[in-house]
Amino acid sequence: MAVKGLDIFKMTPKKNCKECGFPTCMAFSMKVAAGTAEVGACPYISDENKASLSEATAPPMKSIKIGKGATEATLGGETVMFRHEKTYVSKPLFAAAVSDADSPEKIDKIFQDLKDVYYDRIGEDMFAEVVSVRFVEDVNRFVELLNRVKEIGRIPMAVTENKEAAEAAAPILAETGGILVAANKENAAEMAALAQANDIVLGVSGASIEDLHDAVEAVEKAGWKKLILNVGTKSIKEAYRNAVDIRAAALKGEDRTFGYPSVVFVNELADGNEQMEVALASMFVLRYGSIIVMTDVDYAKALPLFGLRQNIYTDPQKPMRVEPKIYEFNKADDESPVLVTVDFALSYFVISGEIERSKVPSYLIIPDAGGYSVLTAWAAGKFGSSTIADFVQSSGIAEKTKSRKLILPGKVAVLQGDVQEKLPDWEVIVGPTEALQVPKFLRELTGIA
Ligand code: SF4
Repeated sequence: MAVKGLDIFKMTPKKNCKECGFPTCMAFSMKVAAGTAEVGACPYISDENKASLSEATAPPMKSIKIGKGATEATLGGETVMFRHEKTYVSKPLFAAAVSDADSPEKIDKIFQDLKDVYYDRIGEDMFAEVVSVRFVEDVNRFVELLNRVKEIGRIPMAVTENKEAAEAAAPILAETGGILVAANKENAAEMAALAQANDIVLGVSGASIEDLHDAVEAVEKAGWKKLILNVGTKSIKEAYRNAVDIRAAALKGEDRTFGYPSVVFVNELADGNEQMEVALASMFVLRYGSIIVMTDVDYAKALPLFGLRQNIYTDPQKPMRVEPKIYEFNKADDESPVLVTVDFALSYFVISGEIERSKVPSYLIIPDAGGYSVLTAWAAGKFGSSTIADFVQSSGIAEKTKSRKLILPGKVAVLQGDVQEKLPDWEVIVGPTEALQVPKFLRELTGIA
């Protein structure tokens, strides 16, 4: 049950001393109830009350940190079932899967793909963040593989219910912020103790959703609450239903036992069918996979899946932007003309594709225009003559090229006079209104065929 502000207020000493950063105890209590202030900010609430309030005001789904340093990532912490209700906060991570029983050739290919598939898309690095290492028979080889994952800077996830293998994996998982998918109803206390002793995130599995619930309760009872939940691999239908039911139970049913992120082994669900694997991975991006394990993450799989993930896990309330700076195309040199546009990601991708297609060496300068499209930014006063002229003068573009041709988007032709006045050394030219016309325009402007 959600705690009301008045209930919290009753636990404060009503001193209105402002030490919590709020003007009154009531204001503080309302913020704690809304989840925007920590109950620990008041030094006068008893430890006992703090403990009970912390539990009661905690978000319905825990945020679980994995990885260390450069690989650190957050799973879970979601507050809504559907993106249109507000936003999703923690993007799912993709994992490739290896086991100690795999051939060296197969393992080498998977690790090579992990290294190769690494690219930037709208300012976000795209790569498979996790490698799932399943124990089959050889503990030494199992640990070697976990170390290999560490060496390539990814997060290892050890998958085993074998005690000896889990104990051997624990130190490397502790060092890297890795995950141990090892607990079930039978070994809950033992694996919880191992995870707790090494401060490792523990994966919990069950033969059914009821069994999983019992296993999580047993792990929590043993004192460990850094968990992820395996949605199961019995069938696609059951795994999907479990993923949805677990999320609904946590967010709608306020069942804290299921208030954890999930792991989905689509590699096992797809059973060797690569197209099915990509289809399932897409489905679990949309419906509640926190770590999605695949046989391999090569470019053919990564491009659609990473694009989908980025589209779903960006905040729809914030415009997608690219970094304001100078972009170079087709080996731009000191004779190249300069185009200018806004920092709205879609504008950038459309125009940059057309500049590349023109094959004309060119610069594209992008000032901070609030992340809006050209006309919206102009109408909002974010893409006017001063914004453009200031960026030309401060960005250093004049040192990169001797050309003084500055090309404005055709949709803001109205700015030409003002920009020309502010930049008398430049020839301010009105470019095309449509990006498609840019290649022809640039070729005619420069005489480069
Ligand atoms: S610090 Fe505690 S006592 Fe002081 S105003 Fe805040 S809630 Fe009230």
